[in-house]
Amino acid sequence: MFLLGHSCWSYLFSKLTGRQVKVNLPAYMALLAGVLPDFDIYFKPLIQHHTYTHSLIILLPICAVLVIRFKGLGLAFSAGTLSHLVADSIVGTIPPLYPLSNFQFGISLGLPSPADTVLEVGALGLVLFRAYLNGDYKLVTESQGESVNLVIPMVSIVTLTLLFAGDNNVSLAAFAFSRKALTLITLGHAVLIGILGLGVVQGVRAIITDRKQPNPASSPVARLPQP
Ligand SMILES: [Zn+2]
Repeated sequence: MFLLGHSCWSYLFSKLTGRQVKVNLPAYMALLAGVLPDFDIYFKPLIQHHTYTHSLIILLPICAVLVIRFKGLGLAFSAGTLSHLVADSIVGTIPPLYPLSNFQFGISLGLPSPADTVLEVGALGLVLFRAYLNGDYKLVTESQGESVNLVIPMVSIVTLTLLFAGDNNVSLAAFAFSRKALTLITLGHAVLIGILGLGVVQGVRAIITDRKQPNPASSPVARLPQP
C-alpha cells in the first residue's frame, strides 16, 4: 500500500483504539504511526525495504514497550503502526517472522489494483469524515499552534513517496499517471498533502501572531503604578 492508505488507516485505527481506552492521540501522531514501518526506505541500502520493519517479531515487542511506558497512548499509537502490516498483507505480503524466517504472509490483492485504490481512497474519505466528527478538522480551519506538528507526517509522506519512486527508477509523473488506479491514488495523496500543508500554514500563522502579541506584563504601561 502507498503512504496515502498507510497514514489514513493508521489515523482511523489509532483514533478508534484511543476512543476505547479514553485517550486522544494527537492527529499528527495518529497519521505518522502507520507510516513508520516504511521509514526503512530512508535507510536503503543499509536495511532492505519490507524486511525488519514489517516483521511482527520485531514490531510486537516495540509495541509492548510503548504500551507499558505510555499506556493508552502507546496502545493507540501501536494500533496505527500495526495497521501498516495489516494493510500490506492485504494488497501484498509481509514477512511476519523476519529475520528468523523469510515466510511471507498475505492475500496479495495487488498493488496497484482496484482493491488497493478502494482501500486507499476510501480510507482518505473515512479520515475526512472522522476528523469532522472528532473536531480534528479545526487543526486546518482554525489558526492554532498545535497544527504545525502536521509538518512531520507531511514531510514523511512526501519524502518517502519521492524516494520510493526514485528507487524504482521511474519518472514520478509517468508513474503517477500510468494507470487509472494510480491517478486516483495520486490525487488522494495531493488532497492529503494539501490539507496537511494548510494545517502547517495555520500553525505557523498562530505562532507568528502569538509572537507579535505584546506581553502585557512586560509593557512599560503595565509597570506604571496604577492611580
Ligand atoms: Zn510497507
